[in-house]
Amino acid sequence: MKLITPNIEDFNSWTVDQMPTGFVMPGGLSEHYITGGWRSMRPVWNAEACTNCMLCWISCPDSSIIVQDGKMVGIDYDHCKGCGVCVHECRFGCLELIREDQADAAKEA
Ligand code: SF4
Ligand code: SF4
Repeated sequence: MKLITPNIEDFNSWTVDQMPTGFVMPGGLSEHYITGGWRSMRPVWNAEACTNCMLCWISCPDSSIIVQDGKMVGIDYDHCKGCGVCVHECRFGCLELIREDQADAAKEA
């Protein structure tokens, strides 16, 4: 199979005939998009209880656990998809998964 890297700049105007049957996208694209926009659940971090074990960082499929100087400092909500893996993996109960609408309501209160 011939692998191609298409120019996706005009992707929205492609017709069905122009769609390749298979292609490999260049790596690192999601960094340039706010992929967290489709999240329905949000992990909320309790910084005070965190032991910086980094289990969440190792487990996150979207590299959305933010680490500085070997310590967790937050969650990248622009790219976190709310899968809950980090919440499941945290052995210390420092992460909780809540609904996005509940998180928004708490912010507005
Ligand atoms: S919910 Fe999923 S994507 Fe978001 S920080 Fe946790 S593991 Fe990463
Ligand atoms: S898994 Fe839990 S305790 Fe470990 S760094 Fe992440 S939030 Fe902190």
